[in-house]
Amino acid sequence: MELWFSEPHTPNVKLSIRVDKQLYSGQSEFQRIDVFESPEFGRFLTLDGYMMLTEKDEFIYHEMITHVPMAVHPNVKKVLVIGGGDGGAVRELIRYENIEHIDMVEIDELVVEVCKKYLPQTACGFGDSRVHLYFEDGLRFIRSKADEYDLIIVDSTDPFGPGEGLFTKEFYGNCYKALREDGIMVNQHESPFYDGDATACKRAHKRIVESFPISRVYQVHIPTYPSGHWLFGFASKKYHPIHDLNGVQWKLLGMDTRYYTPRLHEGAFCLPAYVEKLLRSVEPVSENL
Ligand code: SAM
Repeated sequence: MELWFSEPHTPNVKLSIRVDKQLYSGQSEFQRIDVFESPEFGRFLTLDGYMMLTEKDEFIYHEMITHVPMAVHPNVKKVLVIGGGDGGAVRELIRYENIEHIDMVEIDELVVEVCKKYLPQTACGFGDSRVHLYFEDGLRFIRSKADEYDLIIVDSTDPFGPGEGLFTKEFYGNCYKALREDGIMVNQHESPFYDGDATACKRAHKRIVESFPISRVYQVHIPTYPSGHWLFGFASKKYHPIHDLNGVQWKLLGMDTRYYTPRLHEGAFCLPAYVEKLLRSVEPVSENL
């Protein structure tokens, strides 16, 4: 008998992964949580049937959502992770000795519990004394914050269900307010490829451009996400993602990474023409220059 996990990427396209066994299935107040074991991708986590991460390719997502802003901002002391219940972003952040404090606000405590048990590869940093966990809605958490964080990482699910509020203008405005005067916000920015994802990506970009003076988008290749082509947003009050990249300084940290390099960092901001066009269509004219 063959067992397969299938996720529709559009009404006409599916990604299917052969599964050895299902390790966990449960329903929280917010979503259905499943963990599978597969021969090709190792263990993987899905929420409401959507792929969140696999053991084989999660390094790409988590390295690129953390090291890009960390190689630009010269002095990150306090970080907020919104979502990120699998722990991958926190795992990468705790590698930096200069970071003094990490708050993580995850709406669903069960995601963290399940990941600690079944995905220790990602959920291995929660015990670090600098990490403080809050189980509540990131949209609400951020409302009361002002001038507090050097870096905010929005490691959310897609813009429906519990993650919907994390793609709103109100949310991005509150992130701006919660950041210090030279703060950076990085967010998972959906994919430009299939129409449905591209619409969400465009909408998020428009709202971020309206909220931050510097807003750029960079790309990664994630085999298990729809189309494999995924984007992250880099929004900033002061630092430019390329002009202020300090690759030499970052290399001196001696960090062993499997995807991120300062050279790749620069290249990741060079987008295909159709993606540039998509993003420009929602930018004010001055951003186009
Ligand atoms: N890498 C993943 C992806 O893009 O598919 C996302 C990883 S992480 C598992 C996303 C987390 O965001 C989930 O654990 C989910 O519970 C959390 N989340 C969704 N909406 C949230 C909200 N409003 N506030 C805080 N956390 C939220």
